[in-house]
Amino acid sequence: MLWSNYFIPTQKENPADAKIPSHKLMVRSGMIKQESAGIYSWLPLGIKVLKNIENIIRQEQERAGAIEILMPTLQSSDLWSESGRYDGYGEEMLRVVDRHDRILIYGPTNEEQVTEIFRKYVKSYKNLPLNLYHIQWKFRDEIRPRFGVMRGREFLMKDSYSFDLNEDTAKISYYKMFVAYLKTFQRMELKAIPVSAESGPIGGNLSHEFSVIAPTGESEIFCDKSILDLDINKKNLTTDKEISEAVENYLSFYSATDEKHDVNNFNKTVKKKDQISGRGIEIGHIFSFGDKYSKPMNASIVNADGKISDVYMGSYGIGVSRLVATIIECFNDDDGIIWPISVAPFKVNIINLKNNDDDCYSKCIEIHNLLEKLGIETIFDDRDESAGKKFSDGDLIGVPFQLIIGPRELKNGNVELKIRKTNKKEIISFERAIDKIKSIIFEE
Ligand code: ATP
Ligand code: MG
Repeated sequence: MLWSNYFIPTQKENPADAKIPSHKLMVRSGMIKQESAGIYSWLPLGIKVLKNIENIIRQEQERAGAIEILMPTLQSSDLWSESGRYDGYGEEMLRVVDRHDRILIYGPTNEEQVTEIFRKYVKSYKNLPLNLYHIQWKFRDEIRPRFGVMRGREFLMKDSYSFDLNEDTAKISYYKMFVAYLKTFQRMELKAIPVSAESGPIGGNLSHEFSVIAPTGESEIFCDKSILDLDINKKNLTTDKEISEAVENYLSFYSATDEKHDVNNFNKTVKKKDQISGRGIEIGHIFSFGDKYSKPMNASIVNADGKISDVYMGSYGIGVSRLVATIIECFNDDDGIIWPISVAPFKVNIINLKNNDDDCYSKCIEIHNLLEKLGIETIFDDRDESAGKKFSDGDLIGVPFQLIIGPRELKNGNVELKIRKTNKKEIISFERAIDKIKSIIFEE
């Protein structure tokens, strides 16, 4: 991609209302534009990162056996009356009246809608377990939308819904998502901590939030330090037994949200030096809630004995748009964003130091085309701007590798390679630079 053909409206100034680094940096790097309180347009760099995150989530959902669907943003309020949540959900629910005076709801979540799909088509235990997910915009009329896309009113969520015959298999479905979540967040280089949580308006009996410790987090979490040392990829998890053991290992350590926190138990079970308490950003939340929706909505199935029973359900959410901000909260410095390779909008940024030099320009194009051919997404900053501006914009947008090409080094067949993560620069041959980039990207 040539920068001059692209659209990255970088800004010098921080937006006046931005309080946290990710909000400032997303606006300054031209990723998002606020349209009204808590509602944003996603500009090219922003949507690219959002899609990369979506794809990682999608891959891990499919690997865990979930099947993608797409439900509408607008739902009939009748479904919410059936489940009994219409009155309870409160002011956060955005209601829309159509021309026939029917009330529609811009979905804040989709338990009702997916239960309606399930009960229409699935009647037998033979079709279970089933896990359906979608990645769709949600609307919650938050009283105080803030921190950019971290707490928006319109936001993108991945939500999955599991259907099982009984409590035991429902637990396995829950555990599978638990593992999928840990793997998903790890691929974004986030250390997500599963914390025992209240289930809130979703309701239910088994619930965990996945939180990342960050000073700008809105909630408080408490956990045993040992949980941070666990690695979900350490063992191959294929059978239900292996999955259950891995999850139960996580559950054996203390971890809780502030609502669930029990100081006495914390002090009793976790040594002082292993006690971690800190601000957490909630990036995912999973629930197992049995027949909470299937019962009132009559989503029942015929089991192997010919008996009818309400299906056991669970729901599993990931804040896709919130993840973009969360990753930036974890990876930034004074100069800008530092993207983990897996989600970076481009992997390499080629900076041409001398604008009107034919040799430099052709070398930049040659390297750009070579990298693209290797499947490494590259942006070539070919703008008629000063080197200083290209450096500062390059650091701001946070592409992991910068290849700086100028006449002096070019004469010797060399290029300057800067790694954004460490800000270390070295002058090496083109071949070595490309080998190095390849080895880091493809080794991931
Ligand atoms: P919170 O406690 O942050 O308000 P929640 O518990 O209401 O979130 P869930 O219903 O569990 O949220 O939704 C699943 C995920 O969607 C959350 O874990 C979070 O990552 C994301 N999410 C929820 N509300 C918002 C929002 N207003 N803006 C962006 N992402 C959100
Ligand atoms: Mg939650």
